[in-house]
Amino acid sequence: MKVLILGGTAEARALAAALDDRGIAVLSSLAGRVARPRLPVGEVRIGGFGGVAGLRACALGFDAVVDATHPFSARISANAAAACHDLPLLRLARPGWSGAPSWTWADSHEEAALAAARLGRHPFLTVGRQELGRFVKTLGDTPTLARVVDPPDLTLPPAWTVVLSRGPYVREDELALMRCHDVDVLVTKDSGGTHTQAKLEAAAELDLPVVVVRRPPAPDGVETVTDVESAVEWVEARR
Ligand code: NAP
Repeated sequence: MKVLILGGTAEARALAAALDDRGIAVLSSLAGRVARPRLPVGEVRIGGFGGVAGLRACALGFDAVVDATHPFSARISANAAAACHDLPLLRLARPGWSGAPSWTWADSHEEAALAAARLGRHPFLTVGRQELGRFVKTLGDTPTLARVVDPPDLTLPPAWTVVLSRGPYVREDELALMRCHDVDVLVTKDSGGTHTQAKLEAAAELDLPVVVVRRPPAPDGVETVTDVESAVEWVEARR
């Protein structure tokens, strides 16, 4: 049996390892966005498929496809749903954060920028490199801390400070970072999971407002599980 995993997440790596342990061959696909990706065990391919047709051509060589991409990776998930409409396809997506009643939810990054401007004067953006440009119009003149894995492609406003780092993070370090930069509002997207959860605990401890960008809708009609064990069971059932 051979499984195609659309990856780029900790869950995708855990799934590749679990299937490999069971003697199931996997090919993990990465988009090639980060300079030094964490590689899963097993075979890996890097780069886009060239849209739905390319993904379908690839998927046809496999017994099953698991879309374990990030909850905000709406395009590749929609492409997978279209390319595999008649093939065994599973979506593995970690649950979102349920959050605190005080959190401010936003339907877009632009809306999150407006909420951050309203709630604080030193925002901390943890939304990923690709989204930073969507905050510039509103927060361009605001002393903003932006944390990203790789350097942003665009020139950011001089008032901003960029921190390059990659999780997982621990609460003490998050507290120190937020205190050091005088952060008074945290902006995140609803990635879910424990990998980047420490910032939420630190914000709660400092009693900071938190702005959370809602997830894009998942494609209709795709069977979905929220943990790696259930994805392994789904694959095993097709063996
Ligand atoms: P996206 O906007 O949904 O996808 C844009 C295009 O990138 C897709 O149409 C596809 O190109 C290519 N692509 C995306 N994921 C791919 C994969 N796993 N393998 C091959 N091609 C892929 O994707 P994104 O949000 O930029 O995310 C890119 C990757 O980063 C994903 O693997 C995702 O799991 C990971 N990631 C994303 C985030 C996030 O916040 N968005 C966070 C952590 C990790 P073609 O149309 O040419 O096939």
